[in-house]
Amino acid sequence: MASVTITGVTKSFGNVKVLQEFNQKFEDGEFITLLGPSGCGKTTMLRLIAGFEKPSSGEIYIGDKLVSSEKQFLPPEKRGIGMVFQSYAVWPHMNVFDNIAYPLKIQKISKNEIKERVNQVLKIVHLEQYKDRFPSELSGGQQQRVALGRALVAQPEILLLDEPLSNLDAKLREEMRYEIKEITKKLKITVIYVTHDQIEAMTMSDRIVLINKGEVQQVAPPQEIYSNPKNMFVANFVGKVDFIKGKVKGNKILLDNSNGQTLPNTSSFKGNVVVAIRPENAILSDDGEIIGKVYSKFYLGDCNDLRVEIGNGNILRIIARASTYNTLNEGDEVKIKILEYFVFEDDGKDQIKIM
Ligand code: ATP
Repeated sequence: MASVTITGVTKSFGNVKVLQEFNQKFEDGEFITLLGPSGCGKTTMLRLIAGFEKPSSGEIYIGDKLVSSEKQFLPPEKRGIGMVFQSYAVWPHMNVFDNIAYPLKIQKISKNEIKERVNQVLKIVHLEQYKDRFPSELSGGQQQRVALGRALVAQPEILLLDEPLSNLDAKLREEMRYEIKEITKKLKITVIYVTHDQIEAMTMSDRIVLINKGEVQQVAPPQEIYSNPKNMFVANFVGKVDFIKGKVKGNKILLDNSNGQTLPNTSSFKGNVVVAIRPENAILSDDGEIIGKVYSKFYLGDCNDLRVEIGNGNILRIIARASTYNTLNEGDEVKIKILEYFVFEDDGKDQIKIM
């Protein structure tokens, strides 16, 4: 196992800075996910750790070893890293056994040891009975497991995975999520996983590094990211949320366009704020403090979501969870209890759009 330490790392391509200064230590055996929208710099960060790119400034250590700095640079093949990419790129002319054996063959390892290690890996990735098949005779998920097996056979201390599931259908993707997590935990490998899929990040990670426009927004375990988001971008990117603008008046927040409705101010902010409410924290209840009208309703099987209009003819809407579907109609007045909400300062700079 190995840790990865990143100190003061930035990356620019020409004049364009794609990664702002980044400082973080990923611990031995941790499953870290780099999460963020397309183009935010996730792959660049992964390529810096792998050694496919040099940082513009700063240092990267694997364990105690300095692998990237302005003066020092260890090439990718000497970093003890395994990699799996979105296009899993298994060799079409080699069967499963030979595909997985490939990294050992080029290291000139003895035939007996290769056989032993490949058989071990075949067991881990559940491909024992497919070892003689060619990639064209395998499903997408099985091919992805071959790619994972090929990365694992060299016994890397660190595994870098770049959107490895994005070519798979939804069901396989879900299955592979659990498999990758279970396999890498069993082998105690440090994993750095890149995705823009928040569900993948939430279900697999020990910690998530949420990035926007090359800047780290928050580094925390999934539960903390979800229940204690540092800013509006984080609240919005992970999970569902509705935002309402408001103004602090004494110990209350007066919600804009709501006919004077208020919520207690749970923050230390004064002036303009934004209240963020997750749907599961807005529930219909007779003692609800917010009054609104049902604007539209959605049947989701395990629950129902109501779009509720707060205020008179204003377009301020939030989603509230309801156990009843048929008994409520559009236009009905409802009371909503807000169990929990986040309050952010509205400095006018935040990147997200609020109705
Ligand atoms: P995606 O999820 O779409 O793969 P990402 O978060 O992985 O996106 P990166 O691939 O790291 O994003 O790219 C970050 C930014 O850096 C993008 O604006 C991209 O165009 C730019 N970029 C990446 N590689 C280069 C390069 N070699 N030369 C110039 N610009 C680059």
